[in-house]
Formats: sequence, structure tokens, C-alpha cells
Amino acid sequence: MKFFWHVLLTLFLGSMLTPSGVLLAQEDAPALNPEDIRTVKAIFDEVLVSAESYRLLDHLSNQIGQRLSGSEGAAKAVAWTKRVMEDYGFDHVFLQEVMVPHWERGNPEVARIGGASGTDLRVLAIGGSVATPEDGLSAEVVEVQSLDEVAELGEARIKGKIVFYNRPFDQRNISTGAGYGGAVDQRVGGASRAAQYGAVGVVIRSVTSMFDDAPHTGTLSYADTLPRIPAAALGVQSADRLTEALRKDPHTRLYLKMDCRWLPDALSHNVVGELKGSEFPDQYIVIGGHLDSWDVGQGAHDDGAGCMQAIGVLRTFQKLGIRPRHTLRAVMFMNEENGTRGGKKYAELAVQNNEQHLLAIESDAGGFSPRGFGVSGPDAVLEKMRGWLPYFDHNTVTFFRKGGGGVDIRPLHQAMDVPMVGLSTEGQRMFDVHHSEHDIFENVNRRELELGTGAMAVLVYLVDKYGL
Ligand SMILES: [Zn+2]
Repeated sequence: MKFFWHVLLTLFLGSMLTPSGVLLAQEDAPALNPEDIRTVKAIFDEVLVSAESYRLLDHLSNQIGQRLSGSEGAAKAVAWTKRVMEDYGFDHVFLQEVMVPHWERGNPEVARIGGASGTDLRVLAIGGSVATPEDGLSAEVVEVQSLDEVAELGEARIKGKIVFYNRPFDQRNISTGAGYGGAVDQRVGGASRAAQYGAVGVVIRSVTSMFDDAPHTGTLSYADTLPRIPAAALGVQSADRLTEALRKDPHTRLYLKMDCRWLPDALSHNVVGELKGSEFPDQYIVIGGHLDSWDVGQGAHDDGAGCMQAIGVLRTFQKLGIRPRHTLRAVMFMNEENGTRGGKKYAELAVQNNEQHLLAIESDAGGFSPRGFGVSGPDAVLEKMRGWLPYFDHNTVTFFRKGGGGVDIRPLHQAMDVPMVGLSTEGQRMFDVHHSEHDIFENVNRRELELGTGAMAVLVYLVDKYGL
């Protein structure tokens, strides 16, 4: 009986599916343009079959790998993405010079419970950290749950110690972004807060939804007025071991050795590829991601995926012979992770050259299945985009919501009021891999990545055709 109803329901629903798989309730079906329905289907057919974003990401991840600003990997990625877009025959491919911060991790870090000859923990310096003294540093550990607790304990308890921030990623958040946001203050501001009360170093529990022992790095921010003390992230199992040791012996010492260093700013580049608009060549639609990554793993999800999708969007237009009315720009921004210099430079040049931008889209939420778009701009823009929702597969792109964008396109949004859109993805696995050794090509799914390329290509197609 159940099966019968299932078949009947499938037949019934099947009769109301558009070619792109969109389910329409008959009474409120908007008037979809048949040509657009065909184009949307052609776009998804193309990305799912050719999978060029995925193929490019394979090369970027496995042949070039990690790409922290100022590194050799970042320079290689600039040269290679430029060549890829030139080889595709995009109308104009160019670089924008940008000076970027240059920090190096140096030799593998060491953290040991019980002093220099103690038990090894898994650890990574937090990006931008200063080094320990050459022989390392050893001190008693004070475990805290928050920056506020450091202030409450004050100098009497903190001075001369290593502060151990151990507030976990809150698993109760269905939105993993909220879980991350609820814990990341320890990584960003923990070092300076501890230094304010005389600490000699900090370690934090990695900000991740995983329960393995891979440490997750990221950036920190030192206050100008306070001493800069070394800061490192422990794998969560290592953090648990340290807690256990402190329970047995509150005077447990931790040994920490890191030789990371700051070098002078380095010359790097944003990479831009264009398909020229037929009617409004001087009006731009930006599709972007950031080309730099952290120096662990391969930066496959963060954000090789977004960059290869940006190139993929233009490539899809080119392969399908869709000539855009406005100029489409795929932009690989440099230095999102530890400075945002590329995004700022792009905006600065846009203002200087008085460029008109219709829209900027960024994909920097991992190469997971697209779920929708976040839109920052006038309400009318959001409403117009919502009217296009029926063109998308109703299990894939399910919303346009207010708020969203990207770190790299925000400066343009702020400087010139350009509406900005962020691709939202299925986020449950993002903080398993984020800024860790797990962010590798094998952890990217071909279809999920390509659906993201397709979703952005469709949105760009509609914006280009109908304006905003
Ligand atoms: Zn990113």
C-alpha cells in the first residue's frame, strides 16, 4: 500500500517538475521563461558532466598544495591560475599587485606535558604567532574557559604561566558557523588577554567540530600595546590529555617550542580573468574566492574550491556559448586568511578606476553542496533574486536570505555599495576540515563542488540577463 502511494506521488510530482527538477505548485507557479529553463539545465548538465572546477582543484591541491601568503605555493598558484584562464582563451587575464604579510611556521612545533622530556601533544602554532625562545619555554598551566576568566583570575594566578583556553566548539549549534563563532575568540584574542596579566604563552583547544587529534590553525590578533607571547592550537584529544594531567597535578608544566617567524611583506597578486560583456563591457559582475590558504593540508575547501568554481562559472559560459551582456570577472583574491590585503586592493583599484560593479559573489564556505545564497544589499535586490528561486533544484538551492557575502568582496561592497552575495553550503563538515591537515582534495566531493559552480553560474546568468 505504502509503495503504491509512493509510486502515485512520484508520478504526480514528476508531472510538475521543470527540466531543472524544480517542483512547482500549480496555483502559484511564477511565469518561468522557457529559454531560461533550458539554459539553467544546460548549465547544470555542463558542470556535472565536465566537472572542470573539480579537475582544476585536483591540480591546485595536489600539484601546488598549500598557499599561505608570501609562500612559494602562493606564487605558483598565481602563475598557474593566470595560465589556466589564458589557455581557456578568456578575453582578458591580468594580475593586480598587492603587498602581503609574510609569516612562516618554520620547523614542526613541539608541545609536551611535563616539560621538555615529557609526553608529546599534537600542536600547531596559530598563524602570526611569535616564536618561543630557541630552547622552548616551560611553565605551569592555568586552564580557563574564556577570556573573561583570565581577567577574573588576574595577575596573581596568570603571571608566568601558560594559559590553556579549553572552551569547546559548542555542538548544540545546528549551524556550525555559530559553533565556530562561539569559540574562535580564544584563538584570535586569547594571547593578548593572557599577556595583559603576565602569561608567557597560550595554548587553545582547536576550534573544530571533530573529535580527532588534528590541530586546527587560523589567525590571531595581537594588541599593539601588549607583549606578544607565543600561541598554539592543540588537537582536541591533546587538549583532553592536558586537562586530565592538570586534574591529577595542578602544577603540571607544559613545554612549548616554536620557531615561526615574520618576514618583510612580500609582493603577491590577485588574479583576474574576464569574459567581456557584449552590451555593458564597463560593468562588472565579480565571482570570487581566495587563492591563499593556511599552510596545513591543501587548502582544498578553503578556498581552492571557491577559486576553481569562479573560473568554472566563466568557463561554463564560454563552453555553452553564452555571451554575457556585462563583463564577468573571475577573481582569485590573495591573502584572505591573514590580512585581506587582496580584497582591499581590489576595492581600492575599483574606486581609483571608477569601475561600475553590478554584483560581487564569493564562494568561501567550502566546496560542499550549495544550499542557498546570502545577500547584502538593497531589499529590492534580495526580492528580485528570490523571484528566481524556482529556477533552482528545490533540494539544492533553497533560499536567498538577507545578509552574507565574503571577506574578500566586503571592501568593494563597503567602498562602492556593490551588492554582495555569498554562496551558502551544507556546513556540517566544514569545521571538521577547516584550517587543518584534513583540508585536502580527497575530502571534496566532485558533484557537490560542481553543483556550487552551477548554482553560481545560474545566478550570474540571471543577474546578467535581467539586471538588479
Ligand atoms: Zn576561506
